Amino acid sequence: MLGGYMGRILWVDLSERKLTDQCLDEKMCRDYLGGYGIGMRMTYDNQKASLDPLDPGSIVAFGTGPLTGSPAVIGSRFTVMGKSPISQTWGDANSGGYFGPALKRAGYDMVFLTGASDTPVYLSIDNGRAELKDALELWGMTTYEVDSTLKGLYGRDSQVACIGPAGERGSLLSCIIHDRGRAAARSGFGAVLGSKKVKAIVVRGDEAVPVADAEKAKALRSKYVRQIRVEHVGSSQLYMIGTPALFGLCALGGDAPVKNWSGACLGDFDQSQIESLHHDNFYKFKTKKYGCFGCPIACSGTFDIAEGPYAVSHSHQPEYETISAFGSNCMNSNPESIIKANDICNSYGLDTIGTGSMIAFAMEAYEKGLISAEDAGGLDLSWGNPDAVVKLAEDIALGRGLGEVLSMGLERAAEAIGGGAESFAVHVQGEAIAMHDPRFEPAMSVIYRMFPGKHIQASQFCKPPAFDDEIPGYGADRERQAGRGTQLKSLECLCNVVNCAGVCVFGYLSTHVDCVPEFLSAVTGVDMGVPEAIEVGERISNMRQAFNIREGVNLVKTKVPARVLGAPPLGAGPTAGFSVDSDLILSEYLDAMRWSHEDGRPSKERLLELGMEDVARDLYAS
Ligand code: SF4
Repeated sequence: MLGGYMGRILWVDLSERKLTDQCLDEKMCRDYLGGYGIGMRMTYDNQKASLDPLDPGSIVAFGTGPLTGSPAVIGSRFTVMGKSPISQTWGDANSGGYFGPALKRAGYDMVFLTGASDTPVYLSIDNGRAELKDALELWGMTTYEVDSTLKGLYGRDSQVACIGPAGERGSLLSCIIHDRGRAAARSGFGAVLGSKKVKAIVVRGDEAVPVADAEKAKALRSKYVRQIRVEHVGSSQLYMIGTPALFGLCALGGDAPVKNWSGACLGDFDQSQIESLHHDNFYKFKTKKYGCFGCPIACSGTFDIAEGPYAVSHSHQPEYETISAFGSNCMNSNPESIIKANDICNSYGLDTIGTGSMIAFAMEAYEKGLISAEDAGGLDLSWGNPDAVVKLAEDIALGRGLGEVLSMGLERAAEAIGGGAESFAVHVQGEAIAMHDPRFEPAMSVIYRMFPGKHIQASQFCKPPAFDDEIPGYGADRERQAGRGTQLKSLECLCNVVNCAGVCVFGYLSTHVDCVPEFLSAVTGVDMGVPEAIEVGERISNMRQAFNIREGVNLVKTKVPARVLGAPPLGAGPTAGFSVDSDLILSEYLDAMRWSHEDGRPSKERLLELGMEDVARDLYAS
């Protein structure tokens, strides 16, 4: 077996209560690397086409990559994945923290769950011994309660990933939480685990992750730790502050959404409101620094608000996306309320992007008279009301009153509310888009269309240093919308590799384009440079696309809501007067990928070149 892999996959048939080990195939590792690469290939091979993600036969998987838990500087990530119950396309959500490394130390690279249990269960994996256990007493608990209960049983060195009451209820905004606030948030997998009656997975183990060339990996670690701590200014800022520091930058540049995407930074959301959400106003509640496994950046932290309506204790830092979602997008400039709303989501198991977007949508519906205060249980849903943001987040978490319909996602909520609410429900394929405005970075429009639920997949602003030396870019000039296809493709493919290797994209931005290929070479023993990495990433992209086509989804035909594209353009703010030509960018991206303009079908020739003969046969029926 290659270095970096434990070499074992666990299959759990919840209906039959049967657990089976499978050896991880080396060719699979070389071709698809790990995480959602291997996860989607195996789901494609083992799940019937067109199956509802909430059908018992569906598969939901937890996967690591070869760098997860290895000496790599930012190798902390694991992915939760499968067919998304929101978008009905391939979905994946990754998270840092400590769960992924602990799963590997427990002896497994991946866990695939299928079937459904009649009664609540949790999965324990303790040093290679996997068991399903009764979870009746855990059902109904918050994620915080589950975490402390299972850590009490399995020890402080165990790690717990679980759903909260929102996932149990089948909310499409629900997610998987571990470590009291690290979230695999997008794509609605909390609802999938809830439908299978799986409350939690607890892992513990002492097995070391094998490394092909330990000396080389150690030297690389020293080199990149030094680079992060000493040489890279951006990461030093992150090290001190974390992603809350991004809010001011994003708002002043026009990247952060305002007023359910209808307003302008420095216009509707003015300078003083932006300053209210300055990172200092969050940081003053930070009581402890937090870093994921093996990460020298440690960009996160825990927060306490001692008293008042927004009191929280040992609560995870709200990240940039959360601050924008509950902040500027709801016209809310009260930091404490954002910390509290974030805490509610973490505790009940909700995606903060989805929940904040839903509250912004509800506020617009209220403004337009489609929701009354009575409908909202007496809440005044006026723009910017911090109490309403917090209370509605709680109602969504508990499925209480209006919160019940809102908890099912923007598409269904808009249908239920009616009166033209679809026109301002800002989603693609049902999933709320992330907090990055295509009017600021036009390529985001294509990311939202082709990868529902994702936001860092191929953004111009998510490039590691020196990437442009490898693949010449198009600069940060948003007016230049033509000529982006090749770099967009390469960024997307490299991002697949970073994610599937088990590395934090965010941390990668503080290193160098060579960092992940170098660590992959040292840890796995398979030499890889940036071009080879991009080819592996391209295979993964083609696999995702094949999965979606087999599911009958044509992402090429999806649209991003017009207001997000500047149709009509904003009248004020940093992106005033600008409109996105999303179809042009998509067209060049499809050409670069060699995918059809009709339905995004990968070309047969490219599939064969990538060694995907069976997929080519499926897509071309010959
Ligand atoms: S940069 Fe932040 S999110 Fe990424 S691994 Fe480090 S601590 Fe975790």
